[in-house]
Parts: sequence; structure tokens; C-alpha cells
Amino acid sequence: MFWTPFFIFGIGVCIGSFLNVVIFRTHEETSIVRGRSKCQTCDVPLGVQDLVPILSYVRLRGRCRKCQSVISWQYPVVEVATGVLFLLMYLTIDWNVPYNLGLQGMMVLLLRNWVFVSYLVIIFVYDLRHMYILDRFTIPAMIFALMVNLWLGFIPAWSVLVGGLVIGGFFWLQLLISRGAWVGGGDIRMGALMGFMLGLEQGFVALFLAYILGAFVGVGMIVSKKATRKTPIPFGTFLAMGTVITLFLGQPMIDWYLGLFL
Ligand SMILES: [Zn+2]
Repeated sequence: MFWTPFFIFGIGVCIGSFLNVVIFRTHEETSIVRGRSKCQTCDVPLGVQDLVPILSYVRLRGRCRKCQSVISWQYPVVEVATGVLFLLMYLTIDWNVPYNLGLQGMMVLLLRNWVFVSYLVIIFVYDLRHMYILDRFTIPAMIFALMVNLWLGFIPAWSVLVGGLVIGGFFWLQLLISRGAWVGGGDIRMGALMGFMLGLEQGFVALFLAYILGAFVGVGMIVSKKATRKTPIPFGTFLAMGTVITLFLGQPMIDWYLGLFL
């Protein structure tokens, strides 16, 4: 269908808008379900016409209708990014499937990936802004990933279980060795989540990507004097990024890597 990609992008943007609400309200400890959204500065409740994702932001030129204060860039960026990721998941779904799942299986897999991406967007943004990987995001995501993957079965069950244990254990060891200086408990849960989402093999790919991305950005920021060696790095942001990339490209990357030796 011609309109399907636009429709899926639209769904992604709306989910992104919801993810923004989750991120802001979690940080302010207010209810996610109850209450109208308000301007962060003047507390004026937003009207229905201000709640349309992206379009409201563009029409208001990024400023509050009442007090003219700047609306956070996080709103449109997360909305567009989630829309793009949802669309990409749909367009690339068959790259990562080792065998024919059939139409129904593909749809379940697509839904699974959309839920995964939603959790990862929250973890990405929250760690970037507040330097925390919160258990209230990682633990439900771990339970969901474990259950859906064991049920779907296209990643072997041992790989899902061992992946979570090994990658979580990798951070746990670092925590022990450094006595909490290098990583925090949130990283352990994030590592386990990566294993449960991707299995052992692709989990390692995601971990490897996260370190490469982290090193590039870290060196870039030190060179451009935006950071020093002491600046804390939101590593959960990079772990989430590595996991998203692996969800799209994990299997092709593994095939390419193995192809170098065979
Ligand atoms: Zn305002």
C-alpha cells in the first residue's frame, strides 16, 4: 500500500510524543496518566490544538503561546526520531530474520521491535539528560524482552538467557573491580536488557558498537574542548544506540564479519 509508510511514520511520531511525556513526567515525579500537559515555565495547561505532535511545535515556532518561553527541543526531536525509527523498522524487517517467519510472525516481530525501540529511546534520552539509567524502564523492558523472545523463539532460548547473564555480568564485574567508579547498577540491568533483547551474539555486537560510538564521541568532545577526561559519560545513551543499530543491522553485520574469514 502506498500510504502504509506515511501511516507508520505517523504512529511512530505519536508514540514519540507519548515517550516525551513519560520522560518529562518521570523526571518531575508527576503522574503519567493523569493531568493535562503544561508549559514547563508558566504552568499554563496546553490546549488540544497545542498537543498535535511536530505541527504544534512548528506553528508556535518553538515558543509557549502564553509566556513565549522556549519549548524544549526534546519534543520535536524525539517525535521525529521515533517516527523515523518506526518506519525504518518496518522497511528493514526482513534483513534480520534468519528464516521465513510468515506474515503473522513478521507482524509480531515488528511489534516487538517497536516496543524495544520505544524503551531504548526513553533510556537514550533519559541518560543523556539526567545521567541515570532508571530501573523503572530497564526492568519492565527486561521482562518484556525475555518473555517475547522465549515465546517467538527465533533467537535460541539459551542465547537469550546466556546473553543477559554474560553482558549483565560483564558490567557487574566492572562494578566489583572498580568498586563502583566505572559503572553503576543501572549499567548491569542495561547489559542484561541488551542480552535479553538481542541474544548473546548480537548482544556482543551492540556492546562493541556502544564502546566504539562512546570512544568516537568522547575523543571528539575532548579534542573540541567540550569535555575533559573527567566529564562523566552517559554510557546508557551509547548502549541504547548500539542496541538500536543492532536491531536494524545485527544480522548483516555478523554475516559481513564472518564473510571476512570464510
Ligand atoms: Zn508558558
